[in-house]
Amino acid sequence: MPDVPWNSSVLKTGQLTVEASAIHGNWGAAITAAIRELNTLFKSNNVNVSLVTGTPANVTVATTTGAYTFPVNGVNQTGTLRTDILHGVTRSIDYQTASTRSRDHAYTFLPVHPRINPQDQTSRDAGEPVLRVIVAHEFLHALGLDAHDPSFNGIFAGTLTLNEGRGPAQDTVSPWGTTTKMPPLVLSGDTVTRLRALWP
Ligand SMILES: [Zn+2]
Repeated sequence: MPDVPWNSSVLKTGQLTVEASAIHGNWGAAITAAIRELNTLFKSNNVNVSLVTGTPANVTVATTTGAYTFPVNGVNQTGTLRTDILHGVTRSIDYQTASTRSRDHAYTFLPVHPRINPQDQTSRDAGEPVLRVIVAHEFLHALGLDAHDPSFNGIFAGTLTLNEGRGPAQDTVSPWGTTTKMPPLVLSGDTVTRLRALWP
């Protein structure tokens, strides 16, 4: 699937409103930090969007232990978030007209317990820095990016490897096969080019 621009009224505002007020604790801190860091990166890279929190929302964020639901034209759709990988999931409501496709809403679901070893559900929860990378990655999906970055650079790499810290607050993430430790969040050149095309 190609990248999908938001509808014209959202594009005009240059803002995407995120509703995550029910989320507290580590995820709440990670969402706040991700929004702050992404906005700084968007500004310095001439990507003309900023994320703000509030309602009415364009992006609704929730946590889940697996199953999730979201409404499409009043009918609940369901899905299941994989908990054996370091990833959330973002589902979008997109409208297709004759020649264009545009986004109307996005729903981001995050794992309640992202583990330092996702394939071992008895391993400890990953720390806030890891959660920050996961949710920032999902916000890029929500902003309109579909396919992962083909290069292993930055937060939009398809596979992220966790580096276990001395404690949760020292956990970091690297694009697969690299030694880049994130945070701080990194956007690859390819990701910036695609974001600029969606948010000119
Ligand atoms: Zn992804």
